[in-house]
Amino acid sequence: MLFHWLRKPTLSRLFPCLMAFLMMPTPLFAGSSAASGKSSSEMLVAELAEDENVEDVEQSEPRKTAKPPKTKPLTSTVSQAPKPKPAKKVAPNIDLKDVAPAPKTEAEPVVQDIETPEPEQMAKTPLPEDSEVRPGEEVTAAPVEKAVKAAENFTLLGNEVLPATSTRLAWSPGIQIAGLSQPTPVLVVNGAKAGPTLCLTGAIHGDELNGIEIIRRTMYDLEPEKLSGRVVGVPIVNLPGFQQGSRYLPDRRDLNRHFPGSPEGSLADRIAHSLFENIIRRCDMLVDIHTGSLKRTNLPQLRADMNNPDVATFTQGFDRMAVVHSTGSPGMLRSASVEAGITTVTLEAGESHRIQEHQIEAGVNSLTSLMERQGMISRMFVWGDPEPVYYDSDWIRAEHGGILFSDVELGARVSEGEVLGYVADPITNAQYPIRSSSNGRIIGMAVDQVVMAGFAAYHIGTEAEVPGE
Ligand SMILES: [Zn+2]
Repeated sequence: MLFHWLRKPTLSRLFPCLMAFLMMPTPLFAGSSAASGKSSSEMLVAELAEDENVEDVEQSEPRKTAKPPKTKPLTSTVSQAPKPKPAKKVAPNIDLKDVAPAPKTEAEPVVQDIETPEPEQMAKTPLPEDSEVRPGEEVTAAPVEKAVKAAENFTLLGNEVLPATSTRLAWSPGIQIAGLSQPTPVLVVNGAKAGPTLCLTGAIHGDELNGIEIIRRTMYDLEPEKLSGRVVGVPIVNLPGFQQGSRYLPDRRDLNRHFPGSPEGSLADRIAHSLFENIIRRCDMLVDIHTGSLKRTNLPQLRADMNNPDVATFTQGFDRMAVVHSTGSPGMLRSASVEAGITTVTLEAGESHRIQEHQIEAGVNSLTSLMERQGMISRMFVWGDPEPVYYDSDWIRAEHGGILFSDVELGARVSEGEVLGYVADPITNAQYPIRSSSNGRIIGMAVDQVVMAGFAAYHIGTEAEVPGE
């Protein structure tokens, strides 16, 4: 009976229940969830289930039997991409830093007639084939031959972007509901020279702000005349979520569980499908930028499927970045685009709802380093050749409910048995220490907050030659 009540809460039903809950003599965090405690646990079930689902709480996994990376240039994936419709208009060459009016939908949504015959749009500079190189090993500098080939027009969202120009296009998922059809900007820099297409996506979770700024800054500093290849940035994929400060879409769905999407499915399926068909399939490489969620923060780090040789090689370009192996979950943009042959990693930086300068700087630096490693730009000053650090990782969970106070900071090196923080029961004053399970580094952690027993509190990374082995 009580159960039924809670399943269908109307205001009038919920109110007495809430009152009873508030007047309950049982301490809220005592963990003895007898009949009285049931209401609180019922109410929190949704959130806890969610907790297990977010990508941040993924820990590293064992790798499958490691196979030597196959010799395959990243650009080969382009052949699988649908040929875009011949574009009708040339996109204006603009300085991306200029103030721009809000984008209007101009491109026709989802490319359906992908059979339109058209000459292969690009002659590409082949990428370095460092096939024998495995993560953790010495990497010789990429032998980028400057066989300077001129770039060709790049067709995206119904526009022709001429070589050596940058522009701002608009993508609209074509969902005809007021407030959802609002287009979001797509920044494009088409270099003067031929090369691969790197795509950057941010704010698939609308409350993850660092990635928006990472993409803006990375792209604003690109000079089209000096770029080989193309960079396409979608700083705010989930515009409605961004406007509401919400991780989710307006239908409460997590967009990052719906890729590659479907034109007939839920709202999230349709939005995912539109992004995937119109933009993602045009990419050779994709970096999807996220932050921690549910009040957790992350050291800048990559989540990468190290079983995939192209992805494993790709991670080497990211400067001094932490890399955690994870195959990802079905429906993630990363999983779907790797499946589609696009070399993809997730970049995690900082926490949601915040703009964090040092996290943004780290993200911009590593993307700049990546573009250099891919032969897309050349930097004037390169300080050595820093390599990423590969981690096996484990989450340490709170054993008790209460208020979490941390003694350590993000990025701290910790040793096995060291107290990382404690959970204090505000009613009984009991304190429960949380200890490190291994020697390693805090690569992610919860910020101080109220937690339930089982809450993933600290993400400990231990250095690995090749993660997952
Ligand atoms: Zn996210």
